[in-house]
Amino acid sequence: MERRAQVILKPRKVRTFLSRHPWVMDTSIDRIEGDPADGDVVDLLSEKGRFVARGIYNRRSRIRVRLYGWDAAEPLDAAFWRRRLEAAVRLRSLLGYDDRRGAARLVYSEGDWLSGLIVDRYADWLVVQVTALGMAQRLGEVLPILVELVQPKGIFVRTEQAMARMEGIEIVPGLHWGEAPEGPVVVLDGDLRCRVDLAEGQKTGLYLDQRENRRAAARYFGGRRVLDMFCYTGGFSLAASLWGGARECLGVDSSAKAVELAQVNARLNGLENLTFRTGDGFQVLQSLADAGERFGGVILDPPKFARSRAAVDDALRAYHWLNRLGMLVIEPGGILVTCSCSGAVGREDFFYALLGAAQQTGRQVQVLQQRGASPDHPVALSCPESDYLKCFICRVA
Ligand code: SAH
Repeated sequence: MERRAQVILKPRKVRTFLSRHPWVMDTSIDRIEGDPADGDVVDLLSEKGRFVARGIYNRRSRIRVRLYGWDAAEPLDAAFWRRRLEAAVRLRSLLGYDDRRGAARLVYSEGDWLSGLIVDRYADWLVVQVTALGMAQRLGEVLPILVELVQPKGIFVRTEQAMARMEGIEIVPGLHWGEAPEGPVVVLDGDLRCRVDLAEGQKTGLYLDQRENRRAAARYFGGRRVLDMFCYTGGFSLAASLWGGARECLGVDSSAKAVELAQVNARLNGLENLTFRTGDGFQVLQSLADAGERFGGVILDPPKFARSRAAVDDALRAYHWLNRLGMLVIEPGGILVTCSCSGAVGREDFFYALLGAAQQTGRQVQVLQQRGASPDHPVALSCPESDYLKCFICRVA
């Protein structure tokens, strides 16, 4: 058997990886022994030659090696992926997320020690998103295991274009196994019905990470007029109206397709007090503020502002600006639900951006709940980046 290539760490770099952070950057690597091809399994060794972990190599990626196993005796074979996937699926049952009519994230990349692999279930269909070359190359092993574990009717595979380019992933997105649904897919969250576009929607179709936050926020909106900025297909508005008894909701998103689906969803749930319109979030907020419009609840759930550490300062300015506008349109005693899904922006940084906005608008803000993603997006303690979603529910006096 050919010897596995070995990646040897620089001195004093070993701790992060012993504590199971899965990303080995170029800057941590001293040298490589052997000539691994992109996508090959490699062993990570300490400077003294001690085994640290096993992972998959990709010269093209910022993340040279993604680590998956920490046991020298364990090969990264089909049985290995099966154990990992099985554990991930079992966790979702524990969470009570296995209603076949509903949606759930079954595999969350780093959070399930499967860096670069995301699997969402929408009723009987799976949507697999790969963000690492190694995972893309192993779909032939992974998909049959998913079929066996979940017994879906069909599996769609998707990638994000920019990510695919960076990683060198070449897969044809679309249906990779089984059959496509005959009509539009509708999933249930309790009694809330939501239509999903599995092939074309953003992410894998829905922002499942906000599921519990929509529920948590809804209960504060009784009788209020709610503004749902960056509403996508209307998740927060639907919850606010159906569960929270909001008086009316206005949802705004720049995507016409998303707004159309939001309108469909309002009808599907028999809700007549929701309005959705397309527009740029910042401009719409500014003009609502200028027009003196006021809301008893404001939700700010913008897209990722910081794609890297270098972009954090710009992102913080954008959060500051956005939340300042949000506070301008909130009536005294109103509820602000403000989110950041930039992994590079820490909770504390986000806090300070909010504080800045509060100071500038002269408002007193009480943070009622500091939340993260739903539990089917588990945070791996060893990988702080997996704690990407911040959702603060506040009262603005
Ligand atoms: N709140 C949504 C998820 C929002 S994701 C939910 O609960 O499902 C972020 C959304 O911001 C996306 O739908 C995207 O289309 C939208 N978006 C991106 N840039 C925007 C902009 N400049 N103005 C308004 N919406 C924007």
